[in-house]
Amino acid sequence: MSSIKDFELAQRIHVATHELKARIAALEAEREGLRAFIANLFEATDWPEGGDLDGFQFQELATKHGILTPEERIAPCEGRESCWCSDYGGPGPTTCYRKAQWLIDAQSAIAQGETK
Ligand SMILES: [Zn+2]
Repeated sequence: MSSIKDFELAQRIHVATHELKARIAALEAEREGLRAFIANLFEATDWPEGGDLDGFQFQELATKHGILTPEERIAPCEGRESCWCSDYGGPGPTTCYRKAQWLIDAQSAIAQGETK
């Protein structure tokens, strides 16, 4: 193998390694958020006793752990299936709580019967 091909191969490996490290870091951050969210749910619901976690508290925990991302909007979204701001927001400025893409994908798969 020529030294040019060795160099090109080394560069491709370097780029791929960098991309994989970034992907692993993102997945680890997501996993940590999910673990913390689940731990908070267990605490908030006082399992196995069963607490009373309302929708607002759930939303706050999901936001705290990156499952929902609040986005200030000048008006509620129209026709979006991934948020509820048109149902809960007024006609003016509102906060839209955007679901993480993995959650949208998972809920879509469940709706289509692709997962158990
Ligand atoms: Zn919205």
